[in-house]
Amino acid sequence: MKNYINGQWIPSLGTDTVDVINPANEALLGKCPLGTSEDVNAAVAAAKEAFKEWRKTPAMDRVQHLFKLKTLLEENFDELVQLCTKEHGKTIAESKGDVRRGIQMVETACGIPTLMMGQSFEDIAAGIDCQAIRQPMGVFAAITPFNFPAMVPFWFWPFAVAAGNTFVLKPSERVPLSQMKIFELIEKAGFPKGVMNLVLGGKEVVNALCSHPDVKGISFVGSTPVAKHVYQLGSSHGKRVQALGGAKNFMVILPDATLDATVRTCLESIVGCAGQRCLAGSVILSVGKAHEEVKERIVRAASDMIVGDGADPKTQMGPLISKAAVDRVKGLIQSAVDEGAKILLDGRNVDGKGYFLKPTVIDGIKPHMRIAKEEVFGPVVCLAEVKGLDEAISWINSSNFANTASLFTSSGAAARQFSYEAAPAMLGLNIGVPAPMAFFSFGGAKDSFFGDVKAHGTASMMFFTDTKVTISRWNKNSNIW
Ligand code: NAD
Repeated sequence: MKNYINGQWIPSLGTDTVDVINPANEALLGKCPLGTSEDVNAAVAAAKEAFKEWRKTPAMDRVQHLFKLKTLLEENFDELVQLCTKEHGKTIAESKGDVRRGIQMVETACGIPTLMMGQSFEDIAAGIDCQAIRQPMGVFAAITPFNFPAMVPFWFWPFAVAAGNTFVLKPSERVPLSQMKIFELIEKAGFPKGVMNLVLGGKEVVNALCSHPDVKGISFVGSTPVAKHVYQLGSSHGKRVQALGGAKNFMVILPDATLDATVRTCLESIVGCAGQRCLAGSVILSVGKAHEEVKERIVRAASDMIVGDGADPKTQMGPLISKAAVDRVKGLIQSAVDEGAKILLDGRNVDGKGYFLKPTVIDGIKPHMRIAKEEVFGPVVCLAEVKGLDEAISWINSSNFANTASLFTSSGAAARQFSYEAAPAMLGLNIGVPAPMAFFSFGGAKDSFFGDVKAHGTASMMFFTDTKVTISRWNKNSNIW
């Protein structure tokens, strides 16, 4: 596996590697090099040089490469889906979603002439006009996680590059294959050399990007401790940073919800992608009589799920990313039992190859338990009974995380109270995975997000451009016209 720097595929200068493993069967798919700060220097230098011409290229010409890429992504859609399933383990349907959501970012970024438009106003004082334009800033970088191998890098670079910046991407060293393929397509789309660069690696590459003097901004997605580290390191080096971190997502079910549909939606939210989504539900807070009914239905639905290799079309849930992930989730399940919760469905015993864990349902969750506070990132349904919406909202708002939360109800008044009072920055009303589209902002609050400006759409323009205001007065000093 090579880096893509200045329009060329070149070997990493790093000598260490990380095994890339198919988590469904433990087959070795390749070895991802752990790049060095010299690799980062080369990529940033290429991007800095390319910026000089790229920023002068008219926006309508810049986006022609994105239109071409969109076509190439469609033509290679099935191969990308297969790669995504192979290196991550998710089902084919989930990988289709992963790739499709990425393509939607490219489509939205093609609208850059409108997205990037500034403002102007005449006569801010007598005879004086003002205009504010958005200018690209230079080299931006993104550091991305394992759980959406295709999609997450697209949250950033199409917007940054369409706006006239140049880019360095460091994907997760655990799932580099989808991005290697996408960079082959980026190359075919004909971006000028140095505009898009790929550096494979881990910590050393991350730290070099966050401290490089020529990198203007960093977009990060990953776990909260690393998000905090990247935010601190990047901002202490004068960069803009948007760092999207981990999550603990609650789903509230009121007795007036349509229970069959709600239980299906909640289960899909919790076990989809084997629970490895930042918007995955984790704890279901059900009110009154809803609790008993949800409990019984969700156990039945969870025990019916077909768990296996995501490449098999019959599979409804794939494996976790690694043995370490399986052990960590099992540890959290055990901690809940030790703290007094009751397992209603135990998915811990799975034989054979692959990093599998079956859906697990635990009842009697209390706010003080570890499993109620920490991110699980696995297919574990946690059930808790609460007295009413007020108690549910106050539980949600006591969490350190605030990525997303959902309410299931048919009451508009309850929905309004929830939208008004719940702290998470992305809310679902009768929706299990409140994932905003490419043209709305994306990002949580509290320990789920470090920074000021979120991802996607118009929000991303604030991150990837700087505003420049020009105030003008033109005195007439000639009579020739
Ligand atoms: P991770 O934090 O382990 O890795 C993310 C990136 O950081 C990778 O590119 C990795 O190479 C790098 N990294 C890891 N450890 C580092 C260190 N010590 N120093 C510097 N860089 C380091 O996250 P992950 O396990 O790949 O992804 C799962 C996490 O990502 C979950 O917590 C999930 O909630 C979060 N996530 C959040 C969002 C969101 O939108 N908020 C979206 C997807 C995933």
